[in-house]
Amino acid sequence: MNERYRVKPEQKIDLSEWDPSDTTAFDGDKEAGEEATAKLNKGLEALQELLYAEGKRKVLLVLQAMDTGGKDGVIRHVFDGVNPQGVKVASFKRPTPEELAHDYLWRVHKVTPGSGEIVIFNRSHYEDVLVVRVHNLVPEGVWSRRYDQINAFEKQLAEEGTTILKFFLHINKDEQKERLQARLDEPDKNWKFASGDLAERALWPEYQKAYEAVLSRTSTAHAPWYIIPANRKWYRDLVISQILVETLEGLEMRFPPAEEGLDRIVID
Ligand code: ATP
Ligand code: MG
Repeated sequence: MNERYRVKPEQKIDLSEWDPSDTTAFDGDKEAGEEATAKLNKGLEALQELLYAEGKRKVLLVLQAMDTGGKDGVIRHVFDGVNPQGVKVASFKRPTPEELAHDYLWRVHKVTPGSGEIVIFNRSHYEDVLVVRVHNLVPEGVWSRRYDQINAFEKQLAEEGTTILKFFLHINKDEQKERLQARLDEPDKNWKFASGDLAERALWPEYQKAYEAVLSRTSTAHAPWYIIPANRKWYRDLVISQILVETLEGLEMRFPPAEEGLDRIVID
């Protein structure tokens, strides 16, 4: 699983070749998939506690997607039951005037994980080569330098002990239509509907192209991108859970040594 959806460094990505409805690794078996996700979730709970207890490593997850792609669903489902004390979510919205007065990584670096922490980026510094590129918010000469800058920034984080995983939740335009329609039709979902999302939807091809550039240029050994088939929510959650658990297991973390002589202690 870890391999299947990972973008190799310098791999040229054409998103039309990546099936957003793919469920092959689980043969389309939703029920079995959900059971597997629940098991992985238990594993994640334990691994998060170990990460926190060891207090050495830092873990950064980046979530990017088109509107309705499921970033919020991933945060809710994959991290269900994980101790909230060790997991933080950082959401990146339109920059404030203060943020805009600084370089684009300023607001990002401040909220990267500390030792023992997992931080989830709900959107990220990649917006600065996505929405910013699509809407020409800065000249091309400025955004085109950012791919290398981002690679250098992430390399620095990695060299200082951060494990970085980046997930692009890949849906197609029809699926987005259904999900937007549901936000219109279901009163409980109305609050999620933003008419501005329709303007972004109209720029679908431009966004796909901007994502292709991101995936082709910023997937590195120290901060790989994964293209997650996200039309099926259960499969999306399963694949991300699996990659996350495999990666955390691979860190070979250890609980810190116990105090000397615990076996002789008698509590009266
Ligand atoms: P989401 O859409 O992530 O689920 P939301 O609907 O709660 O979150 P939005 O108001 O849509 O909140 O916030 C995200 C918006 O901020 C997006 O349109 C995104 O493109 C924009 N944004 C994020 N970073 C930047 C940036 N660096 N420059 C310009 N716009 C940005
Ligand atoms: Mg939104």
